[in-house]
Amino acid sequence: MKNQIPVIRSSMPPLEEYVKEITPLWDSRWLTNHGEKVDELEKQVAALLNAENAVCAVNGHQALELALRALDLKGEVITTPFTFVSTTAAIVRCGLTPVFCDIRESDYTLDPEKLEELITDKTSAILPVHVYGNICQDKEIQEIAGRYGLKVIYDAAHAFGVKYHGKGVGALGDISMFSFHATKVFNSIEGGVLTYKDKELSEKLWHLQNFGIAGMEQVKYIGTNAKMNEFAAAMGLCNIRHLDGYIASRKRVYEHYVERLRKIPGIRLNLEREGIEANYAYFPIVIEPDIAGINRDQLSNQLKKQGIGTRKYFSPLTSSFECYRQYKRVETPVAERISKQVLTLPMFSELTDEDIERICDVICGMMV
Ligand SMILES: *Cc1c(COP(=O)(O)O)cnc(C)c1O
Repeated sequence: MKNQIPVIRSSMPPLEEYVKEITPLWDSRWLTNHGEKVDELEKQVAALLNAENAVCAVNGHQALELALRALDLKGEVITTPFTFVSTTAAIVRCGLTPVFCDIRESDYTLDPEKLEELITDKTSAILPVHVYGNICQDKEIQEIAGRYGLKVIYDAAHAFGVKYHGKGVGALGDISMFSFHATKVFNSIEGGVLTYKDKELSEKLWHLQNFGIAGMEQVKYIGTNAKMNEFAAAMGLCNIRHLDGYIASRKRVYEHYVERLRKIPGIRLNLEREGIEANYAYFPIVIEPDIAGINRDQLSNQLKKQGIGTRKYFSPLTSSFECYRQYKRVETPVAERISKQVLTLPMFSELTDEDIERICDVICGMMV
């Protein structure tokens, strides 16, 4: 049996670098509750994401819930079913109703042309996802949101390090959430951040993530515990120094895959788009079974047999999980079809050229 190739491998800095970063904590004994490391990480992340304000949280999911609570949303939130379950869970757990909108064929992000017809007098916000780091149609979405007085919260979990017209994407919408989970391009083991324009939100977000405590004897909100700890922030500070290197290595992987797979009929790649410098978070391929002669599940099974990990990311749609099915209001045919055809291939900075060749050989071997 050949070596296993995992679908993902977490990025880590050299051990000595992390040890150096955490050493001061043995003196300060300040381990959590907005210490120096979290403070420094927020500053660096805000600059990198082109955001005016940033608040770190224990993970991306909790950050998303904080965002929904801080904006005092009510009623319905229009979102995409082609996402990680966290997006939908955050909406429902905040007492809101998800309304699923279809996605674009070209980049799998929420389709603004199908958005307006879903707006009702109960709609309070739109929650699109920069899926795979593909940036949403932000101008169209913002225009519609503006006309109806809706908030826009981006699930930017995949988009850390992406540049859009030369800048980070933390200034889009009212609030954006980036995940620093171990499997993402940039990680703080577990973690996440909210970026936003309105400075007024800062205090509320700080309180909300610390049990709603606003003063020694004052609790102002029904809060939770969603604070990032100093060890996580220290990992973030180390990884952020290496971010350019991580992305450059991923770009090498991307280019190698593209060179091998771009000419195969029936396999559609998620190619780079004008105006966007990618972070190469994922390498999704969409298989057209009629043309390729095989389907997604056959391909994923064959790769698995050869010791190669893949993910059916995102399949099934979140709107088809039993606990969320009740919210399905309209058909989302594009999302439905893509979720049956998509497969994400191994993607991480240490993936070797030899491994990429092996993966592509298996794929090409199935096509003949
Ligand atoms: C990873 C992810 C999240 C959740 O982030 P965590 O940091 O794991 O809590 C939310 N949405 C999407 C699209 C994700 O991929």
